[in-house]
Amino acid sequence: MTDLKVLHRIREKDLYGVRVCLGIVDVSNQVVGFKKKKHYSDEVLGEELLDLPPQRFVTQAVWFDLADGAVEKIEKGKLDFHGGLHAVEHAAIAILPLFAMCDRNDIGGVSTPFHLDTGRAQVFIYDGYPGGIGIAEKGYEIIEGLWAATLKLIEECPCRDGCPACIQSPKCGNNNEPLDKKAAVILLRGLLRIET
Ligand SMILES: [Zn+2]
Ligand SMILES: [Zn+2]
Repeated sequence: MTDLKVLHRIREKDLYGVRVCLGIVDVSNQVVGFKKKKHYSDEVLGEELLDLPPQRFVTQAVWFDLADGAVEKIEKGKLDFHGGLHAVEHAAIAILPLFAMCDRNDIGGVSTPFHLDTGRAQVFIYDGYPGGIGIAEKGYEIIEGLWAATLKLIEECPCRDGCPACIQSPKCGNNNEPLDKKAAVILLRGLLRIET
């Protein structure tokens, strides 16, 4: 479980009418449990609950709104909106290291159909180090390239519903649920103004 609060905005810009922000956020991670897995198989041996204090830190994040019409398209196609946001978040985190010279473990994310601080659907990508080491800032600067590379990763992956090479994340705090590959493509195409 990751909780993210927006403390303040540092910079913002409009890309084709979509708002992109760089700001300071307060992130708290609570590890609520984990699954024990047998080596070399996916068989789950059992789940243990951990009771750790939340890890809390203040860092930088980049976040963006969605293009008009994308949500309607997802609803019309009976796809999973939250699954689409979550898939965009995971795939963008997988791709950002190519631009920001870091490891995906240095980056965290939060995606939600409604964020209390902004009043709308949001994908946040945050720097995993207290104060930030420039990862979110880089993401803000190259956001359009990040969207395009993220779309390419998802669209060109031959899997049907998402796999570890595209939208699944090895460090998802939510067991990779929900995820919707088709909805993610609609959201990213909307951001890039690509007709579908
Ligand atoms: Zn895949
Ligand atoms: Zn996740």
